[in-house]
Amino acid sequence: MIADPIQRGIGMTSEKTRQRLVTRLRDKGIRDEAVLEAIAATPRHLFVDEALSSRAYEDTALPIGRGQTISQPYVVALMTAAIHGERPLRKVLEVGTGSGYQAAILARLCDRVFTTERIGELVRTARQRFHRLGLHNILTRHADGLEGWPTQAPFDAIVVTAGGEVPDALLEQLDEGGVLVAPMNDGQGQRLTRVTRTATGFEREDLGPVIFVPLLSGLE
Ligand code: SAH
Repeated sequence: MIADPIQRGIGMTSEKTRQRLVTRLRDKGIRDEAVLEAIAATPRHLFVDEALSSRAYEDTALPIGRGQTISQPYVVALMTAAIHGERPLRKVLEVGTGSGYQAAILARLCDRVFTTERIGELVRTARQRFHRLGLHNILTRHADGLEGWPTQAPFDAIVVTAGGEVPDALLEQLDEGGVLVAPMNDGQGQRLTRVTRTATGFEREDLGPVIFVPLLSGLE
């Protein structure tokens, strides 16, 4: 009987299962080896309810309670690759901690991750996961992420993991040369969008269609 969930990685949650997910992401076009390594090193089954752990290495979003979801691994990889490699990532802000999985991936590629979540219960569970996995470079805040984290700005990158309107206040917290990735509405649906802050303004690039839960304001 193995009681420790970190040890429960036999079978459906084993190293081999995780490697299969990495192979799938590579086949789908993820080329950034550091991102793939971070995915291989992060036990996604510890970021979902135990009843769902056998599905944790499928390339799908899964429910995490409170009407929210842990993002699809492909989308996590795509968003991470979209901010990685351009410049050293000293400080990265995430809006929408959710399960904490995206933050855990970022923590392996950035010096420090600042992550915000509006639902208190999700903040508490995510914090416990970071602690148990020894991810000490993640700071979590129960806050409306649309306000950013002004006392820690500027950021090298900002990752928004819920879809909607990104306020200027958030873009203003990007360092010059910094990048923000977010699902933005284009009238027909959400498009993953990368915004780069230049010396004179902001440049936008489209990275394709995505489906995220909505960005909401205020706390729960
Ligand atoms: N990155 C998460 C994905 C969670 S889904 C993961 O890897 O699991 C998106 C999350 O964004 C939800 O938990 C939702 O509560 C949160 N969210 C939505 N609007 C927000 C806001 N304004 N500020 C902070 N969090 C927000």
